[in-house]
Amino acid sequence: MLNAPSTSRHRVIAAVLGLVLVLGAIFVWPLAGRQAAVVQAFLPMFGMAVFLTESLTAHLLYTQYSVSGRPVYAALSGAYLFAAISVAVQMLAFPGVFSPTGLLGAGAQSAVWIWVCWHGGFPTLVAASLALRRVFPRGSQRKVYKRLIGASLMGGAALIAAAASYLSIEHVTWLPDLIAGSSYRALADNPIAVAVVCINAGTFAGIVATTRLRTMLELWLAIALLAGSVDAVLTIHAGARYSVGWYAARIAAVCASSAVLGMLLREISHLYRNLHRAHESLIQSSLRDGLTKTFNRQYFDTQYPELLGVSANAGQPLSLLMIDIDYFKQYNDNFGHRAGDDCLQAVAAALQGGLRRPWDFVARFGGEEFVVVLPNCDSAAASGIAESLRRTVETLDISAPHSPAGRVTISIGAATSTAQMPAAPGDLVEQADRGLYRAKRAGRNRVEVCAA
Ligand code: GH3
Ligand code: MG
Ligand code: MG
Repeated sequence: MLNAPSTSRHRVIAAVLGLVLVLGAIFVWPLAGRQAAVVQAFLPMFGMAVFLTESLTAHLLYTQYSVSGRPVYAALSGAYLFAAISVAVQMLAFPGVFSPTGLLGAGAQSAVWIWVCWHGGFPTLVAASLALRRVFPRGSQRKVYKRLIGASLMGGAALIAAAASYLSIEHVTWLPDLIAGSSYRALADNPIAVAVVCINAGTFAGIVATTRLRTMLELWLAIALLAGSVDAVLTIHAGARYSVGWYAARIAAVCASSAVLGMLLREISHLYRNLHRAHESLIQSSLRDGLTKTFNRQYFDTQYPELLGVSANAGQPLSLLMIDIDYFKQYNDNFGHRAGDDCLQAVAAALQGGLRRPWDFVARFGGEEFVVVLPNCDSAAASGIAESLRRTVETLDISAPHSPAGRVTISIGAATSTAQMPAAPGDLVEQADRGLYRAKRAGRNRVEVCAA
């Protein structure tokens, strides 16, 4: 489904979102450095939102890998796992979120360095995933290799995240200081800031140029990277925590983390809808006769005994009509089997159209024989319905010169199971069959009721 071509609707939505991100950044730009109120709840909420969206995206992408075996999905899942781990560690290390100075023995410089690793690492891993797609498009379908490739790619990404976190926390003294109080102006002056922006913007441009955003995944990954670029540029330009630009950048980061997830969730809902439709139509077609579209023998064999049992328990009658087209062999001999099929379809449609109550049904019993099940219908009503069905077929006026009537007719045998004289399913069929043979012997084109 990720390989599905990007629809024009998605392209328009993505373009609007991209435009909102860029215009939003331009709008915020002059105010970015202005200090805003410190909302303590903001950062944990942001961290939780990003952690959840990144983790869910990683999970769903890995599911795609399990189904398709394409390593690119496992690699992308790894990239999202990397981001999820990074944001989780950053929240733990961030001063003022879980403790005044941050957990895990973090120093004042740790959180900002984790941010640098996260924002440099994620686009790098995405670019590497897309490069992997070119060199290794199919992967292996063998279960053991598939698992090994998946585990290596996910494990590799997790390891990089762990190493970056370890460096940023345990050996942060090896790295230049970037933050003083809540200001990280030094980041903007450090070449690493240019590198982070270039990696984000470069990966975005690369994805647009090389893929032309032909698939859903490419389209929404591009939006994620564009949002990531906006996040990086605004964060660096703002220069201080809890400034207007810093807040705006966090919102862009939420867009970056949820772009692919939104598409995946929409596609999954779409998939469920289609699956439901396919399932319904499969059930319908498995119950219907291919030629006449009436219910098939299998449906009759399962449904009729059940209905008979329910009727008997409720003390209600149930009637059965056994119907056979007269002289049908000769019809085929005269007009050919194709015309015979058309005639069968016309008769079936007439029978079906002749039933009024929703619980009555026609099934093809076999060949040119049909059976009609009439729950809660006594013998008198059943012979009335049978007579009306016989007349309906007669008035179709399908020419049959070999028949004494000059047109296609049917013979019907009717039988009823009542509360006083309940019949077993097989016995009732036999009775209706006897009625049918009596109708045939009596000259056809008629209804015969057979009592128990
Ligand atoms: P009767 O009046 O005694 O019922 O005579 P009949 O010729 O209808 O009876 P018979 O059972 O001998 O012939 C049934 C014919 O129905 C035989 C077969 O060619 C035809 N038939 C059965 N199924 C189909 C089908 O699916 N399509 C077509 N075209 N013909 C079918
Ligand atoms: Mg027959
Ligand atoms: Mg017949």
